[in-house]
Amino acid sequence: KVYRASTTAPVNIAVVKYWGKRDASLNLPTNSSLSVTLSQADLRTLTTASCSASFPASVGDSLLLNGEPSDISGARVQACFRELRTRRAALEAQDSSLPPLSTYPLRLVSENNFPTAAGLASSAAGFAALVRAIANLYELPASPSELSLIARQGSGSACRSLFGGYVAWRMGSRADGTDSMADQVAEASHWPEMRALILVVSASKKGVSSTSGMQQTVATSGLFQERISTVVPRNMATMEKAIQDRDFASFAEVTMRDSNSFHATCADTYPPIFYMNDVSRAAIRAVEAINAEAGRTVAAYTFDAGPNAVIYYLEADAEAVVGTFYHVLGGAVDGWKDDKIKG
Ligand code: ADP
Repeated sequence: KVYRASTTAPVNIAVVKYWGKRDASLNLPTNSSLSVTLSQADLRTLTTASCSASFPASVGDSLLLNGEPSDISGARVQACFRELRTRRAALEAQDSSLPPLSTYPLRLVSENNFPTAAGLASSAAGFAALVRAIANLYELPASPSELSLIARQGSGSACRSLFGGYVAWRMGSRADGTDSMADQVAEASHWPEMRALILVVSASKKGVSSTSGMQQTVATSGLFQERISTVVPRNMATMEKAIQDRDFASFAEVTMRDSNSFHATCADTYPPIFYMNDVSRAAIRAVEAINAEAGRTVAAYTFDAGPNAVIYYLEADAEAVVGTFYHVLGGAVDGWKDDKIKG
């Protein structure tokens, strides 16, 4: 008998960025962060987990990612497997009628319907889906926050993809990481007019991985200390209030300032790290022009560890925002995705 469970997980795009680890093996951050979860209509991971006593133990666990065998020997994937198996084993110890799934090899098949490792948060959706698929397979009675603790160990930002809407990852203070998990600040339905436009400036793999970029920033940037001690705590507080109040101007200002602050610490890293390129900077200028033209803030840009822009705007301003982007940058970008916020 083969036991099987499938799930999908969405991408999340941070408006207050995660950058810096205080513990690299547990993926514990140096600051809290906050993101918006996109709808799964466009960007999502689909993962199926299966296990069986008949799967050969000599092969062991495996992951087929986008049709290719993927290396799962890394400490992060292993930490997720271990955490999930331990929880399943505890259930089996309590109830001897349960089949011993925790002892069977795991087979995972996963597919991202968007570029992997290109700065579009495939690791976030990928690990969220991996953890939930196995938790479903094992029938674990775990809440999204508990699963977020496990997904965090796979990829920090993955802990935010277990919720829809507006999601905070609280950095926590414990050395073992048991209080470093995500919670939902507001449902998507709280602010249903919110939209995200993704400008795929480049779909190729990024130059400096987030993990190594973060480590270099933590080790060498003075500006980074200011960011984690002062800038981010202030941005988190202002952002949570902006979301509660549905105050787009405030949401937008914090989003843009936080992205700028993050990229400034990258430039302050020695040697410096540059994720944005000329097209990214043209997108920033386009947002400024759109807001100036409208006479109020109708669009906000944010950039992760890559050149691709995510533009937040409200549905009512779609024409001003999306129309202008197509006009100004149409030839310079590889692709477009217009997305709703996940409910
Ligand atoms: P991104 O910006 O897309 O998150 P990263 O380089 O940070 O890029 O992370 C990409 C890595 O995340 C992949 O090399 C793989 O290890 C992991 N990953 C991506 N998608 C999946 C998936 N669907 N299932 C499991 N792991 C995944």
